[in-house]
Amino acid sequence: MLDGYKREINYLRVSVTDRCNLRCVYCMPSDGVAISRHEDVLTLEEIEQVIRAAADVGVRKIRFTGGEPLVRKGLSDLVRNIDAIPIIDDIALTTNGILLPKYGEELKAAGLKRVNISLDTLKPERFREITRLGNLADVWEGINTALRLHLNPVKINTVVMRGINDDEILDLARLTMEMPLHVRFIELMPIGTQNPWVMGRYISDEEVKQIITKHFGSLEEQKVVGNGPARCFKLPGAMGTIGFITALSNHFCQQCNRLRLTSMGSLRSCLYAEQEIDLKVPLRQGAGRKELRNLFTKAINLKPEKHKLSEGWRDSERVMSQIGG
Ligand code: SAM
Repeated sequence: MLDGYKREINYLRVSVTDRCNLRCVYCMPSDGVAISRHEDVLTLEEIEQVIRAAADVGVRKIRFTGGEPLVRKGLSDLVRNIDAIPIIDDIALTTNGILLPKYGEELKAAGLKRVNISLDTLKPERFREITRLGNLADVWEGINTALRLHLNPVKINTVVMRGINDDEILDLARLTMEMPLHVRFIELMPIGTQNPWVMGRYISDEEVKQIITKHFGSLEEQKVVGNGPARCFKLPGAMGTIGFITALSNHFCQQCNRLRLTSMGSLRSCLYAEQEIDLKVPLRQGAGRKELRNLFTKAINLKPEKHKLSEGWRDSERVMSQIGG
């Protein structure tokens, strides 16, 4: 379906939980966030109902995210049911990778096509500082599992933060020479600005690109691997690619094709728009497919032309782990 700005909306990002087995400093405040009550989160059956209605209005691609989607029990069953919807042609996952060795095989068998794995550093101690809980070796097991299972393209999401991991930009870029990985540098977004940790850490992708080209020479521009908002490049002779996701410095709203479903059952037409459309209450009051379809149409019509993140994050209620990154 086309929105009010003639963009085709065919992609739904589904947060299946706001729980996470990590506590990344830029994603969650240090004192954590109040975890929602079990009964407030959509059941897997409800998520499936919502995705079926989304398919009716033209959604073809689903990405499961969170929180950490792999901590949600039964995710493989959900993936299998969604894979059985004929017009859904792409099912992807954004994960920290830690539980991929445990669930990768069953997810692949269920119909998962590909994964994005978050990795901000190659240094074990730094990884622990950024994630407050994690072990870097576990993420590498996850990455190797994804490669072994051909969950391709295997993309790596790296948030670059000044004074934290900007000294690793070259090493992270070099990964694409050594392994068939697609490393995407993501600009730090001021989401949940009550989190003082993000202030002053922003570094533009233009600066990241300059650091890379200064060292490696000019980059060959590539067609985007898979689909998504990254601008893609390759180091000469590399197995993988380098991407830049410039959410802040050069927004890609004119190509935006997505909606988001929060784990609590709200549709968000833009990551940065405060307005949400509740699906949970209608669902629990017995709304049928037609009614859900109408709510999707309403959300699509609500999509703003572009985000206003440069003016600041105004949704003081929410942090990234609650919306679904
Ligand atoms: N737990 C999963 C993971 O680690 O990928 C999925 C959820 S996480 C919220 C999704 C992505 O959002 C991660 O790649 C994370 O780095 C990114 N993210 C979270 N907060 C961010 C922020 N303030 N700015 C930029 N990216 C952010």
